[in-house]
Formats: sequence, C-alpha cells, structure tokens
Amino acid sequence: MAARLIDGKAIAQLVRTEVARDVAAWVAEGHEPPGLATVLVGDDPASAVYISGKQKASTEVGIAGFDHRLPDDAAHEDVDALLRELAADSRVSGILLQLPTPPQVDGPALAALIPPGKDVDGLTPLSAGLLAQGRPGLRPCTPSGVMELLRRHDVALEGAEAVVVGRSDLVGRPLAALLLAAHATVTVCHSRTRDLADVCRRADVLVAAVGRARMVQGDWVKPGAAVIDVGINRTDDGLVGDVDFEPAAERAALITPVPGGVGPMTIAMLLRNTLQAAQAGAAPVDAGTWS
Ligand code: NAP
Repeated sequence: MAARLIDGKAIAQLVRTEVARDVAAWVAEGHEPPGLATVLVGDDPASAVYISGKQKASTEVGIAGFDHRLPDDAAHEDVDALLRELAADSRVSGILLQLPTPPQVDGPALAALIPPGKDVDGLTPLSAGLLAQGRPGLRPCTPSGVMELLRRHDVALEGAEAVVVGRSDLVGRPLAALLLAAHATVTVCHSRTRDLADVCRRADVLVAAVGRARMVQGDWVKPGAAVIDVGINRTDDGLVGDVDFEPAAERAALITPVPGGVGPMTIAMLLRNTLQAAQAGAAPVDAGTWS
C-alpha cells in the first residue's frame, strides 16, 4: 500500500479532547455549560443507540445532556410543543430531533422549526441555505468531519480539483459547498453522471458518499490523490466503504479506512457544533463565531 492512512479515530479523539478543554475554559469564564437536547420519539432500537451514544459523548466533554424520549404514539403537537420549549430554553445550546419519527409525527417539518442557532445537526433548510450562500452557520457534522480530516492532513484545497460522488442533503451536497468555500473546484457526481470513472480520475480530492460497496475502483483514483470514503456498507465480509480500498490505496497519497475513517468524526463534530452554538448564542448576533 502506497497511501498514508487517515486515522479518523485518532483525529476524532483529538477533536473531543479539544472540545473538552474549550468547554472547561468556557465554564471557567462563568458561563453555563453548553447543553445538548436530544428528542427521540418511539422505541426504534437503532435510534436509541445513536441517541445514547451522542448523550454519552456529550457528558464526557462536559456538555449538559437533556435526553427527551417520547412514546411511540406521541402526537405531532406534543413534539412540536417540546421543540418550541427547547428552542426557548437558554440552557439548551443545541437541539437534535432523531429521524425518522413515527408516521403521525412529521419529523422533517418539525426539524425545520429548530432555530439555526441551535441546529447542531446543521441540516435544516435554513442552515443549508446559510451554507449555500457561504454565510456563517452551523455545518452538518459528517461533511465537516471530512473537512477536518483534510485540514489535519494539510491537504491543499485552494484551486484543487475535488470530486464528490453523491449529492444527498446529508453528505454530498453540503460537502460540495464546504469544499467550494475552501476554494476547491468542485464537481458533484450522482447516479446519472456519465463517465463517472473519468470524472473521478480528475480528482485531487475524491470523496465517495454513495452507499454502494467498493464501487469506486482503484483505477478511478488519480495517482497522489486524497481519497475520502464516507460509505458504510454491511457485507458478508463485514463493514466496507464505497471505495475498493486495496487497489485505491496503491495509487492514492492519503486514504481513509472503513471503519475508522470518516465514521468517528460525526459525533466529534456534533460536540464541537454544540460548543460553538453555546458560544455564538452568548455573543452578539452575527458575531461571526461560526466558520
Ligand atoms: P443517499 O442519500 O442514499 O445518497 C446516495 C447518493 O449516491 C445519491 O446522490 C445518489 O445519486 C448517488 N448514487 C447512487 N448510486 C450511484 C451510482 N451508481 N453512481 C454515482 N452515484 C450514485 O446516501 P447518503 O446518506 O449520502 O450516504 C452515503 C453513504 O455514506 C452511505 O453508505 C451511508 O451509510 C454513509 N454515511 C456515513 C456517515 C458517517 O460516516 N458518519 C454519515 C452519513 C452517511 P442520486 O442523487 O442520483 O440518486
């Protein structure tokens, strides 16, 4: 293997340590600790695991947790009322509504009510609009985790050719906006892209966020490229990414493994967003605290 591995686990741990340090300093200055409110409706076991993981990680860095669990038959209006309460609560810096919600609750419509200053997932239409216009705001966690991996490895983005495969609201689209804001020349590919392999071969930075096991072949990788694999696919061989790792690693200069690459970054960036939300919430509006 020629490429250097990007150790997402280690970088995520560094980010968590920095957030813990900065939370402690924030509290030492006399502020309330940042608070993360999570709202889970129903008893989907996978969602409960995600929420517990986020709450546990928050506690570890000194963020106060507000863990709200509503029954499976909770009414849309109940969730609406809770979110409004949390939006008005000064102890709550960030709000997460776990999706999907049971059918009687319109989760996406309710999530859109989260004020941009508390939208630590960075996924509401308002937050997406701020990002699209390059204005300050909270950024989605997985894409900002990818940017953090590139930054920690000093990957030059200005003027670089970046190709993002995938255009979801969760990953591909916001990541393309972040790369553009970092002055990369960005191409976004999707299921209708012609000559996908040729487009990928242009990339100095190649990001796969598709959800198809090992789709990106080794010979799609430009020699010396940085390859970021966001994909998580369960196969008979265990968890694999969207990139055919071994041959891609022969040509890339830098590559993320799956697991242990992008995956661990998401919660780390959520913690950082929660701290930033607290700091921005305590500062004058439009203080430019967010990047
Ligand atoms: P998604 O919403 O399903 O979007 C997939 C994207 O890939 C779509 O834009 C789709 O194109 C495109 N695509 C599908 N087949 C393609 C093909 N043959 N050629 C080119 N593009 C193709 O998925 P997502 O939520 O963005 O997630 C992508 C992957 O990242 C998944 O494996 C997911 O598990 C993983 N993920 C990881 C993390 C993490 O590490 N923390 C977080 C989120 C997601 P169209 O738009 O044309 O349909």
